[in-house]
Amino acid sequence: DKIESEIMDNGEPITFHDIAGLEDAKATIQEIVCWPMLRPDLFTGLRRTPNGLLLFGPPGTGKTLIGKAIAHESKACFFSISSSSLTSKWIGEGEKLVRTMFGVAAYRQPSVVFLDEIDSLLTQRKSDDNESSRRIKTEFLVGLDGTGTSSQGRVLVIGATNRPQELDEAARRRFVKRLYIPLPNAKDRACLLKVLLEKNENTLSGQEIEKLARDTDGFSGADLKALSSDAAMGPLRQLGPSALKMELKALPAISYKHFRISLRSMNP
Ligand code: ATP
Repeated sequence: DKIESEIMDNGEPITFHDIAGLEDAKATIQEIVCWPMLRPDLFTGLRRTPNGLLLFGPPGTGKTLIGKAIAHESKACFFSISSSSLTSKWIGEGEKLVRTMFGVAAYRQPSVVFLDEIDSLLTQRKSDDNESSRRIKTEFLVGLDGTGTSSQGRVLVIGATNRPQELDEAARRRFVKRLYIPLPNAKDRACLLKVLLEKNENTLSGQEIEKLARDTDGFSGADLKALSSDAAMGPLRQLGPSALKMELKALPAISYKHFRISLRSMNP
């Protein structure tokens, strides 16, 4: 139980609605991941499903978010672990953690194991690789071989990386399905701003959102979230300390002007 609470993510449930844009990736994921998790009996013979899914692309584009949404939409348990946290463990600990994680994931299936920064774990062998990281890597490949979605078991491993070219051949082979998660285009940026703005009172019109989307070329989803959070501070900054005496309902709404001010000091 202790290990489980260490590796489980207890955040808010994330759905595909929370992921703006990425329509092609979402459709593919529904088909090859969510449906087989919900109805493994339909996926027999040629309709085989991958046991590993690799999400690659620039930082902050929603790879972790997709992992969480998959777990929620497939009614699966979500296990999230960062590769660098494994390799920094005491000798022998990382290896044990990997074995235990696959064990708990199998016990709690259907489950999704999300491994962030996978390149730091499954990287091409370097001469300075120590014994411990080699053992963690072997343990992980063994664990990955034992997973999959079939009528016998439903454990999906999702690897995320910004540097897919650094993965070694053995690892790449196991992630049969690979999806590129790109930076958002102007249309996706507008969608994302709309999703983010649903959370607070605001006065932005559709046209203003589209103008912001055009002016944020090169911004990732994470950058847009940072921009929106900064703009959301606008009404408080405008009022100064007197804002602290006000009811939430009485605060001025976030406006286009607040975004323009924040945009002046923010880059992708
Ligand atoms: P990294 O490679 O740095 O780990 P990542 O691709 O896993 O990044 P996330 O951690 O999923 O990116 O995204 C960071 C934050 O940016 C998310 O919490 C989310 O708020 C926002 N975000 C990014 N892309 C999207 C998107 N397409 N839709 C909604 N929110 C997004």
